[in-house]
Amino acid sequence: MFNPDTITRFNNTETPFYYYDMGVLNQTLQACHNASAKYGFHVHYALKANFNPKVLDMVRSFGFGADCVSGNEVKAAVEHGFSKTQVVFAGVGKSDKEINLALDTDIFCFNVESVQELYIINELAKAKNKTAKVAIRINPNVDAHTHHFITTGLDENKFGVNTWQLSEVIEALRACPNIQFLGVHFHIGSQITDMEVYKSLCIRINEIQTWFEDHGFTVKVLNAGGGLGVDYHNPDTNTISDFESYFKVFKDFLNVRADQEVHFELGRALVAQCASLVSRVLYVKNGQKKNFLVLDAGMTELIRPMLYQAYHEIENLTQKSQPQTRDLKYDVVGPICESTDCFRKDVDLPESFRGDLIAVRTAGAYGEVMASGYNLRDRVQSVYSD
Ligand SMILES: *Cc1c(COP(=O)(O)O)cnc(C)c1O
Repeated sequence: MFNPDTITRFNNTETPFYYYDMGVLNQTLQACHNASAKYGFHVHYALKANFNPKVLDMVRSFGFGADCVSGNEVKAAVEHGFSKTQVVFAGVGKSDKEINLALDTDIFCFNVESVQELYIINELAKAKNKTAKVAIRINPNVDAHTHHFITTGLDENKFGVNTWQLSEVIEALRACPNIQFLGVHFHIGSQITDMEVYKSLCIRINEIQTWFEDHGFTVKVLNAGGGLGVDYHNPDTNTISDFESYFKVFKDFLNVRADQEVHFELGRALVAQCASLVSRVLYVKNGQKKNFLVLDAGMTELIRPMLYQAYHEIENLTQKSQPQTRDLKYDVVGPICESTDCFRKDVDLPESFRGDLIAVRTAGAYGEVMASGYNLRDRVQSVYSD
């Protein structure tokens, strides 16, 4: 990702910035496309992971659809050339304004998260003399075996309809003439690397689809959501997620009917590895027990470590080319006035100095999109390999 020319370029660039390796993005998208297309699966890109315009353009060029979680994401997807027939819209708290915008856009499908939401969409669609296409987001009570901060498919989570509410759902569907039932939707969490979890999900999807069929509904769409993880520990040696195994689980275990469409919504696995947050060391504090590297980037540029206890590889790009230096342990911290503004503790790094370039790796997903203006910080910039 960082050849000497790139580092020379960084030396002349104001930090902090997100560095996008467009070659890595292209290869990742190609791998996902190849692995899904051979089974005829439809992939929607979850915009919330990264809506950088250059990223969106490349994602769209592979023919992926858009998975949106706000009205503005629906708008951004269409503005960036995603076909409205490939836009899906999820979210536990869709406002009337957002629903109306999606109705006016004639999106492919609302992923509906409660019975009450079904009635509201029906009412708003009726006022426009339209029919809204919906999939019901069902909480399958499958444990994603991921960090509890980012699991969404258990009964106690706020997302989706629980299975014991399904009879209420069909009652509502029958009572709502301005709703067209397309199918079922699931999304059980993020950063999932254990394929057994997806196997369990397939088994639950099969049961739930049979339940709908037994009640007289045709299930045209099975949407399995996203959540495929990436290797935060080995960004250089394991850059591309195992899309082949991922899609094969669904090919092997999902009971797909004739004329049925299988949909996915991947975010992190498509964009995480293509970007790093690059910053400079402002100060080195050598304590008696601890050394600190104070960077010019912090939680205002990348909040994942502080928000989810997320792990990121951290590299000193300046000292990397001088292998004779000794390794020290540093707490790598940001400049923000919060004690939690720490990227990682006890990081092994070559002895580091003011002005060194530090890369925080695997920062393409849920990085730049969560940047904030706290402390009235400048908006983080983006730099592209091309
Ligand atoms: C966030 C989200 C996704 C994407 O999740 P990743 O873990 O980034 O793949 C997919 N579907 C829904 C409904 C989401 O909210």
